[in-house]
Amino acid sequence: MSPRTLAIIGSGVAGLCAALETVRLGLPAILLTKQQLGDGNSTCAQGGLSAVTAQGEAAGDAVASHVADTLRAGAWHGGAEAVQELCASAAGLVHTLEEHAVQFDKDASGNYQLGLEAAHSAHRILHAGGDATGAGLVAALTAAVRSAERRGQIDVIENALVVDLDFAGAHRRTVHYLQEDRSLELDADAVLLATGGLGSLYAASTNPQGATADGIGLAARAGAVISDLEFIQFHPTLVDPQLHPQAGMISEAVRGEGAVLVNELGQRFMLELDERADLAPRDVVARGIHAQYQAGHQVFIDARAVETLKGAGFLARRFPSITARLKASGLDMALAPIPVVAAQHYAMGGIHTDTRGRTSIPGLYAAGECANTTVHGANRLASNSLLEAMVFACNAVNAMGADAPGRACGIGELVVGQLPAVQAQAPLELPQLQSLASEHLGVYRTGEGAEQLIRVLDASAPVAQDQRALVELDNLYTCARMIAYAAKQRTQSLGAHHRVDAASQDNTGNTVRYGWVLDSAQPMIRQLENKEVHA
Ligand SMILES: Cc1cc2nc3c(=O)[nH]c(=O)nc-3n(C[C@H](O)[C@H](O)[C@H](O)COP(=O)(O)OP(=O)(O)OC[C@H]3O[C@@H](n4cnc5c(N)ncnc54)[C@H](O)[C@@H]3O)c2cc1C
Repeated sequence: MSPRTLAIIGSGVAGLCAALETVRLGLPAILLTKQQLGDGNSTCAQGGLSAVTAQGEAAGDAVASHVADTLRAGAWHGGAEAVQELCASAAGLVHTLEEHAVQFDKDASGNYQLGLEAAHSAHRILHAGGDATGAGLVAALTAAVRSAERRGQIDVIENALVVDLDFAGAHRRTVHYLQEDRSLELDADAVLLATGGLGSLYAASTNPQGATADGIGLAARAGAVISDLEFIQFHPTLVDPQLHPQAGMISEAVRGEGAVLVNELGQRFMLELDERADLAPRDVVARGIHAQYQAGHQVFIDARAVETLKGAGFLARRFPSITARLKASGLDMALAPIPVVAAQHYAMGGIHTDTRGRTSIPGLYAAGECANTTVHGANRLASNSLLEAMVFACNAVNAMGADAPGRACGIGELVVGQLPAVQAQAPLELPQLQSLASEHLGVYRTGEGAEQLIRVLDASAPVAQDQRALVELDNLYTCARMIAYAAKQRTQSLGAHHRVDAASQDNTGNTVRYGWVLDSAQPMIRQLENKEVHA
């Protein structure tokens, strides 16, 4: 059998690792990415990558503890098989990354400097450049992909916004994309979506602007099942964007070093909310912060005691990127508490896949933040997403090269609902969508709010200034509809999905997983004209 041509869409850590795996396996591949190679959420990652290495095991850590922490943080909604695969693959992934010249921070004896983050029971977070782990990973992996490109082992197409997938042909799949306002297309035997997150749906997010749920829109329009979308993670400590719009996020690792959350009265409100206090899982801390604001308080992260305890200059050495960003906004966490809010950070759900990246559509695969392998359950454990993106992207490429035509993931355990066709066409612009999603699909939710949002969205049609903006807005709109239907359907609170109108928290450990498909009559987003074929 001749080697298959694979199309990889996206160049964060998932897309880059997938590309390098195609090179290792000698599979012809084309990587398309909507800006430059390496753009996306990955490069922003600060805290690090969780892994139980031999060094960790020697200090008493175990893969089984990583599995247990991941399942617990996910409110027991995670898939046990996928979580086992994730945690057991971590040490091997670290080795592969080091072969690609990723440099994790080590001490003078050559041991990893293992950090602690919220809800981890051991120090197991590897980091690079202090708090620049994502940038370090992306730089090394991008360099490796560039050199494979120079050797003719992979094609890279930049500034290519993928707008649609055509899976109607027997075994060929067509990828439609826009490049400098030209409509182009290419054929592949299998397609991997590695398109990242959906942060642009919310008014406040830690994600860069390109996080527009494109993979979810593309997969949904191709007929794939999207699951667990009601579980959106809110990061507790985005520097208040109203006060300091450029200051960005403060990693959980800062609390791991001992920083605490306080209100303007200096009260440590997390102490009475959870026995793990400031290091409780993200959903718990985000709700604690949200409640403070609802009660009229302001919230700060206070790291001054860390500096006092560990010596002057410690915070700047341990967190150089965060320190520099804060300084550019006139802030210094060694000297004063920093005002923070909870902001959208991560999507636990996404395109439903098995542990080999297969979606419910033969030939279509997904990995990284756009996919739902079920590892994160109802709430992601800190530093598990870089790991997930890379482990399952490599798995997916292996499956893409070997799967029989027609192979797809099973959807056995899923309860799948169908979104109705959109009826009326009131124009909907991005700021309106962001404001609606922030109001009804935020940290706190109600059934009534979700229903109200569904009524508005089902009677709306996205409108934007140009074709690219419209494509992205349409993807966010599809994603918002799915989250709204899912948020309405799940009437009890679970993990990051907090229904304030629910009688109780669902902690049965035996939770239903909901999946969604679009109505079959849903029109394709764009009828592309004047197509050209990529040779
Ligand atoms: C501020 C911040 C800090 C974080 N810190 C950590 C951390 O410490 N540890 C951790 O594990 N996780 C962290 N995360 C989460 C983690 O970074 C992401 O979940 C992960 O990097 C996602 O990788 P990805 O490859 O799936 O997506 P991304 O890195 O977002 O890449 C997506 C790619 O797809 C491309 N793309 C999207 N749509 C299209 C399209 N239509 N056509 C063509 N290309 C397209 C994008 O341009 C991009 O190249 C953090 C996230 C943020 C935002």
